[in-house]
Amino acid sequence: MPSVYIKTYGCQMNERDSEAVAAQLVAKGYSLAASEATADVVLLNTCSIRDMAEQKALHKMEALIADTRRSRPDIVFGFLGCMAQSRGRELIDRLPDVDLVVGTQKFHRTAEYLDELISGRQSKVVEVGEEKKSEAAIREHLLNGNAKKSVTAFVSIMQGCNQYCTFCIVPYTRGEERSRTIPDILAECRELVSRGVKEITFLGQIVTSYGKREISSHDGLSGFVQLLEAAQEIEGLERIRFTSPHPKGYGDDLVAAYARLPKLVESAHIPVQSGCDRVLKLMHRGYTRERYLNLVRNLRQVRPQIGLSTDFIVGFPGETESDFEETLSLVREVEFDQAYIFRYSERRDTPAASMPNQVPEPLREERHQRLLALVNDVAGRRYQDLVGRQMQILVEGPSKRNPERLTGRTRCNKIVVFEGADRHRGQVMDVQITRAGSFTLYGDPAIINLRDARV
Ligand code: SF4
Repeated sequence: MPSVYIKTYGCQMNERDSEAVAAQLVAKGYSLAASEATADVVLLNTCSIRDMAEQKALHKMEALIADTRRSRPDIVFGFLGCMAQSRGRELIDRLPDVDLVVGTQKFHRTAEYLDELISGRQSKVVEVGEEKKSEAAIREHLLNGNAKKSVTAFVSIMQGCNQYCTFCIVPYTRGEERSRTIPDILAECRELVSRGVKEITFLGQIVTSYGKREISSHDGLSGFVQLLEAAQEIEGLERIRFTSPHPKGYGDDLVAAYARLPKLVESAHIPVQSGCDRVLKLMHRGYTRERYLNLVRNLRQVRPQIGLSTDFIVGFPGETESDFEETLSLVREVEFDQAYIFRYSERRDTPAASMPNQVPEPLREERHQRLLALVNDVAGRRYQDLVGRQMQILVEGPSKRNPERLTGRTRCNKIVVFEGADRHRGQVMDVQITRAGSFTLYGDPAIINLRDARV
């Protein structure tokens, strides 16, 4: 059987989709190539959220074709995911050596399409249509094979987005919101736990919209909180996370869930995008700065040690200096532990692309740098404040930078590097934080002392 190499661009949802496609192909007898240089099939799972992400994938494909097409004429090249969905056949018109284009509702059919191409029944396949129940088709996991089992896993619970933020292409590439059933998700979680997984992250484009249409609320609990409650009962599961939520999705029931469900860790990535009401309105975000701040206050009241991260877009059309300064002041007020900052990027066919007063690129870059410096300063102090504390971590495996050391994650989503042994992998243990680096903590396995505060 052929070997396949999948390169992934973009978010955790894309990583998860690639993993499921790889697992499906392995189940059909494909092997996973260590690099594109030796693969019989090379698939690029693409991202459309920024122009740069699309250009990267296009240039990568051009380079691959230039390097290998002549020497290995049978190699199969394909685009998967968001850019495949939005551009479809246009990709083959531009790069005629590409054989396969698979949209976001057809990932699970990749093996079928490859069979058609490899057997010669088809010379090109472009599939970007909608497919009912495709949201339940991302379920197979690799878990890094058998030798080094993962203790964490992502579970895709819904697809699509109905929010239509004016800058975002996702509703066009991922379609309408569609959710899996709770029993289906729980079955996948239980299977993962039986294979050694201790922490599950629920994934969705707008994960807090889970079940909005499909699951009626009862006892004041939304479908999403009902899912969290059910996951809390899974024996052997230690931790539950989710990403990415929308601030609007944090109803009182979800805030209260943090107090009630001990497996739901004290960590939240809540994209705010801007600290200015006027810009938030132009973005069609559906909340105000005050509502966001109120949410932060409520969460910190329930879980004072909660780790908060966010996303910002700087240089949105019409953003003035004083609008931007409101974003800076929001960072000072909230004191985020981490923030991902993006320069606004025009996406075709989105309302923001044709808004007046587009901010020039050098100004976007300047605001990016100013915001980044502030975020690093604020977050750096929050990390320093943790030195000397005892924190609970789930040990994930060897550190990427120094495989001699182990790495774990606190409940509030901070990476901790420490000297440990392979037997620690998968353990929930306490470490004493000895120093803080850039978005990394360093620790010593601690002697449990219940008088110490834990995070
Ligand atoms: S909520 Fe807005 S930013 Fe997030 S995926 Fe939906 S449209 Fe895009």
